[in-house]
Amino acid sequence: MTPQDIIDSEAYYESLSVYVVNGTPAAARLSCGGVIEACLAVARGELKKTFAIVRPPGHHAEPDEHMGFCFFNNVAIATRVVQLLTPMKKILILDWDVHHGNGTQRAFYDDPSVLYISLHRYESGQFYPCGTFGSMVSCGEGPGLGYSVNIPWPEKGMTDADYIHAFQQVVMPIAMEFSPDLVIISAGFDAADGDELGECHVTPTGFAHMTHMLASLAGGRLVVALEGGYNMDASASSAVAVARVILGEAPPELPPQIATEVGTETVYQVAVEQSKYWKSVNPKACEPREDVTENTFSIPEILKAHRQHYLYSKHNMLQVPLMTAEYEERFGTQVMCTNDLLENKTLVVFVHEFGNLRVELNKKPHATCVSSTLI
Ligand SMILES: [Zn+2]
Repeated sequence: MTPQDIIDSEAYYESLSVYVVNGTPAAARLSCGGVIEACLAVARGELKKTFAIVRPPGHHAEPDEHMGFCFFNNVAIATRVVQLLTPMKKILILDWDVHHGNGTQRAFYDDPSVLYISLHRYESGQFYPCGTFGSMVSCGEGPGLGYSVNIPWPEKGMTDADYIHAFQQVVMPIAMEFSPDLVIISAGFDAADGDELGECHVTPTGFAHMTHMLASLAGGRLVVALEGGYNMDASASSAVAVARVILGEAPPELPPQIATEVGTETVYQVAVEQSKYWKSVNPKACEPREDVTENTFSIPEILKAHRQHYLYSKHNMLQVPLMTAEYEERFGTQVMCTNDLLENKTLVVFVHEFGNLRVELNKKPHATCVSSTLI
């Protein structure tokens, strides 16, 4: 392209969120070729694990459309090459980039040989790449139905605990049931703590733990391929943490982890959806806790309230304030008078107690006394 070509095409490329210079085609091919080589080396047993540190990224690139900083879908293309050239046929692609990998999901949407699992910000389809393709009910089609798994976060701010909860309840059960020959991580680091685009809080230790869990699959055949990530320091320290695990180190210790309410709810809903396709996913095991709220009343309290309401609405009777706090607490709602109390020369006082009302609750005999006896 001439400099003028680049200026002329700027609006077109900007509409797709891609930016090009003369070196872009060569860089895009190098990046894609790098991921292909990394995958082939592992699939052929030449290396146990690899980390392809490449740019431009690939997971937004659709089969016939470049978009979102991506030109070729590095991971999707490498997956097909591995299937064509090696005995590795069942491949798991785990995409933890904060954006949905629409291109990768599209490439294998009807293909049961590739399991695509993505954790990403979704926000009702408002977060890039927008639309409903990354929703939790977007699960594949035809023979590929059930082989696209989306864990769509409804808001920013997700934590290590949320990601690990999703891994324990959804990602790993499905991955183990699928039993892949090779695992590829679409490793964007834009969900990292400190990334201003992703606005989430996954720490290097969190990434290390996710890598460690995925490394237990496929006999340890694991390829990590760089995708997004816009805070250089956060991307670098996260990548180092992942690399350490690839080199065989145990992930560092995590403090006690409790998933957020939003994370728990999302994982539960995804589990409900995915349990249609995967026997190992158990929604009951991750049902959000519903704390019992203080909204129980005793039968005498309900009867007192009913009587008070009845006397007021039927006979216009009002509650009489009592002299001490102690009386108020004990008889507060029980002393009522007609509103001509101060004018009428005759005062009639009815005093009565609750009569006998017998109820049975939960099979345990319970006796509650309620009176309707007038004295
Ligand atoms: Zn991203």
